[in-house]
Amino acid sequence: MRRRLVLFFLCLIACTAAATATAWARHRRRPAAPPTGALLYPLAAAPTISGNFGQYRSDHPHGGVDLWSFLQIGTPVFAAADGEIDYLKCSSTGYGRSLYEKLADGRTAVYGHLSGFAPKIDEVVRREQRRRGEYHVRLDLARRPIGVKRGEVIGYAGDAGTDVPHLHFEIRDRRGLALNPDDAELALNLAGLLIERQQWAEALQLLQGALTQMPDNPEILNNLGLARAGLGQREQAEAAYRAALARDPRSVKIYNNLVKTLLEAGRRDAARDVVEQGLRLLPADPLLRSLRQAVATAPAGR
Ligand SMILES: [Zn+2]
Repeated sequence: MRRRLVLFFLCLIACTAAATATAWARHRRRPAAPPTGALLYPLAAAPTISGNFGQYRSDHPHGGVDLWSFLQIGTPVFAAADGEIDYLKCSSTGYGRSLYEKLADGRTAVYGHLSGFAPKIDEVVRREQRRRGEYHVRLDLARRPIGVKRGEVIGYAGDAGTDVPHLHFEIRDRRGLALNPDDAELALNLAGLLIERQQWAEALQLLQGALTQMPDNPEILNNLGLARAGLGQREQAEAAYRAALARDPRSVKIYNNLVKTLLEAGRRDAARDVVEQGLRLLPADPLLRSLRQAVATAPAGR
């Protein structure tokens, strides 16, 4: 909890509206490349979690995570993955305006407290509202779902049904049970974005939290190495990469990161051993072959 709070305040200080706009512009120009199948951070703002999964609420545990929109209303909300909007609600309580997206893998993503919907969804909602003559609608679209693509703007964050604007984001399994999105892909993906923005310390905090949940996840360990290396902690970076490789010995990007860190420390022999270890498993890999070349021509030490 304290870790989250620290992260929250670090982000809050670091992210003025201008910084958020810049980060968003950069994000739009060069979309982040999270691991295949990972959920996209669904809000066009600097990644910041303002409410945790499972938090105590007056009559139920919090079923998702709250993503901070920096008090803004109208921040674009993205589809976290390819899927189909098969249910939506407009209400003055609960999640206010909300979208339910069936993902390709059978899970459902819920986006709550929206200030509005993307035009193609809004059209359907307004038609139904006119037909019923009221704002409150629950629309089951299972028979004619609205297809959406990962990263497509599906709505806008707001404060419908709540008092402070934010995006409520929830992942449910096939049975409709809420999963913890910040334990799994979301934390990892969030850390990936922070690493891309070179916010090493914030990424490290998030990854250490994720690691306690999934200690054997090579992707977390690899990202942990990147964050440590970014902070200049070479030995800890090396240990994280080696732990990642032990769990995923065919990941060329981890060899690449480890070799880079070793070469930066002037440890050419250790780097050579790592490359040869990789080439024994993947003898034809072009990246490993070019790494062998880079190690051979690197300075022996400094
Ligand atoms: Zn919430």
